[in-house]
Amino acid sequence: MKVLILGSGGREHALAWAVKRSERVTEVVCAPGNGGIAQIARCIPVDLKDVDAMVRLAEAEKPELTIVGPEVPLSLGIVDALQEHGLRVFGPTRAAAMLESSKGFAKRFLQRHKIPTANYAICRNVAELEKAIEIFHAPLVIKADGLAAGKGVIICQSRRTALEAAQDLFNGKLLGEVEQQVIVEEFLQGDEISFLCLSDGKHVTALAPAQDHKCIGEGDTGPNTGGMGVYSTDEMLDQGMKDWILRHIALPTVRGMAEEDTPFVGVLYCGLMMTARGPQVLEFNARFGDPETQAILLRLESDLVEALEACIDGRLSETELRWAPGAAACVIASSAGYPGSYKTGFPITGLEAAARIPGVQVFHSGSAQVENQVVTAGGRVLGVTAAAPSLQEALDRAYQAMAEIHFEGMYYRHDIGHRALKKKP
Ligand code: AMP
Repeated sequence: MKVLILGSGGREHALAWAVKRSERVTEVVCAPGNGGIAQIARCIPVDLKDVDAMVRLAEAEKPELTIVGPEVPLSLGIVDALQEHGLRVFGPTRAAAMLESSKGFAKRFLQRHKIPTANYAICRNVAELEKAIEIFHAPLVIKADGLAAGKGVIICQSRRTALEAAQDLFNGKLLGEVEQQVIVEEFLQGDEISFLCLSDGKHVTALAPAQDHKCIGEGDTGPNTGGMGVYSTDEMLDQGMKDWILRHIALPTVRGMAEEDTPFVGVLYCGLMMTARGPQVLEFNARFGDPETQAILLRLESDLVEALEACIDGRLSETELRWAPGAAACVIASSAGYPGSYKTGFPITGLEAAARIPGVQVFHSGSAQVENQVVTAGGRVLGVTAAAPSLQEALDRAYQAMAEIHFEGMYYRHDIGHRALKKKP
């Protein structure tokens, strides 16, 4: 069977790696892919914002299954377009992907279905926001409605800074695009968990949970990034809490979407804050997370393609996923300057030595193959990922592999997993 993966990051590299392990898969094609993916799959250039071009590519390649990685093509309706052309595709339709592409839609949906989330108000202009924030205590959270690649959430210490942030969203100063609506939200305190599930539109199956580190600096300081590292362990959530989240958050979401005639088929990524009053939804993503997927898929023992096909065919309830016990960790190597401006094109060395360390996979986020050399091509460059019986061992392996790798200006955090390690008795 031939599988097409749309995307170009570490998530897609991990997907390609997991898909290739399926006995049923004979060929993996990735569009556009990257320098690491090119070593395990045929890569074809494509613009992920151009639905027609992606459809033309899929029609020419005739894959038996297409997996959509990133949020932008989902929000543009790539799944609807491929389905209209009779192609099998894993991912939510444009209407279902609204759970991620509009935070306003997601908040109203959560409220309609009585799913726990922070109190909020949706405002169409600064005057509305000024009125709404009268009833919110500082700190408060200001959010752009649309996709913002992790840059659309601002935690504000006062009402005045909240107003300023909202103003910058409305006038396009913050994101470069003018926001039609801005959400103000109550600030929640607690541990964050990424709870990802597969959904066939009616049923849900949880993937291994994960926790990420968004800040660039050690000790979780400095500006936010796409994610500098992530880990997944068995201890993160006990069975009781997992069942509660499934029963009160994931299932009601999937049932609610079905009731509203926009069934959600794909990965429902629930970003949760574990607060004193229980888990609350911070956000939904309508796809595999990046870098969460790198750590999660390293622990998956079952056949990923079987599971994704079960979602498409509405028979997820017959499928059980098996996970390697223990832990996995992914540490991101980034370019100097990221998340600000950075240079690319530097040769990457030591990849083979790193991959020889037991349990290690080096997934590429922003790399390119230039002649016989893999070079840097993005802010986040590599996701050095390792699985092991414990988190400490997984981290040791990942850092041992990282020590083998070099490129000019390479930066990585040395403290991934510090919160979980501190909690251990
Ligand atoms: P989101 O894109 O909505 O997940 O927000 C990105 C990050 O902002 C989250 O991972 C949290 O760390 C933080 N955040 C979002 N909403 C809240 C909230 N209501 N209270 C506290 N932190 C939040």
